[in-house]
Amino acid sequence: MKAKIIDGKAIAEQMQAELAKKVEKFREEYGDVPGLAVILVGEDPASQIYVRNKHRACLKAGMRSEVLKLDENITEEELFGYIDKYNTNPHINGLLVQFPVPKHLSQQRIIERISPEKDVDGLSLDNAGKLFTGGKGLVSCTPKGIIELIKRSGIEISGKHAVVVGRSNLVGKPVAMLLLKENATVTICHSKTKNLAQITSQADILVVAVGKPECILADHIKPGAIVIDVGTSRVDGKLRGDVAFDEAVHKAGYITPVPGGVGPMTITMLLYNTLEAAEMQNKKQSLTN
Ligand code: NAP
Repeated sequence: MKAKIIDGKAIAEQMQAELAKKVEKFREEYGDVPGLAVILVGEDPASQIYVRNKHRACLKAGMRSEVLKLDENITEEELFGYIDKYNTNPHINGLLVQFPVPKHLSQQRIIERISPEKDVDGLSLDNAGKLFTGGKGLVSCTPKGIIELIKRSGIEISGKHAVVVGRSNLVGKPVAMLLLKENATVTICHSKTKNLAQITSQADILVVAVGKPECILADHIKPGAIVIDVGTSRVDGKLRGDVAFDEAVHKAGYITPVPGGVGPMTITMLLYNTLEAAEMQNKKQSLTN
């Protein structure tokens, strides 16, 4: 039996159409639309494409979008000056600096400079801490998108054994926390894990975020499992996932393709986080008035 393909592109498009309606409702209630600002430092070609895609998606959903392009030699203090301005700008509800940044700038210090209320990438210690302790904060976009993909495919997470391969702060750890929050029993694997296939082949839900093309084979997969492939690597100019799709598709019950699986959900969740941030900020504002 062939696995059902989880069509991330279609789910993302549907969610963005739903979001446009939510943005309209927000505008009626607050007389303004949510706003996202993206700071791009330097000329990295891949980053330029990501930023352009975020800008377009934002405008399509009826939100405000600002892109600030800064010289690659900017000092950290100068960059912080721009971040501080956006932190206090009431028309900007979400703020992110596109990574990677030039080596003389500290990614962690940049993340911590952004107001947690506007940290729509959900990477700050404040938001990560809330995720790990059950508080209400902004959750990083790719992990949040993975949960949406699973739920919108009609799959129950509660009670399932979820195995996450990868323990990065960006994907592995937060997606493990979200799966735990959904009452899955969660196992996390990494580069030092012994007998990986023995563990992954017990997974009802297998999330792979490694960054090594086709490192997960059919032998790693339990028959009928839900396989979410987060990996994106360029091989001979083509985008490849971490899962050997052609063989895995005959073993899994559900599987995400690369491209067209997790990828389209990431920008979608960034837009949802911007709306969520705007709602939280407006509610807080009305409480203090
Ligand atoms: P990362 O920070 O490099 O983390 C990779 C993780 O994989 C690490 O925890 C590492 O373990 C583990 N790992 C490496 N080799 C392994 C092996 N042989 N067996 C088991 N685990 C192994 O990467 P990331 O930021 O999480 O991203 C992972 C992939 O997802 C990349 O391809 C990235 O491009 C992609 N991604 C896609 C999206 C999207 O929107 N589609 C978003 C984010 C990331 P150690 O901790 O022990 O080193």
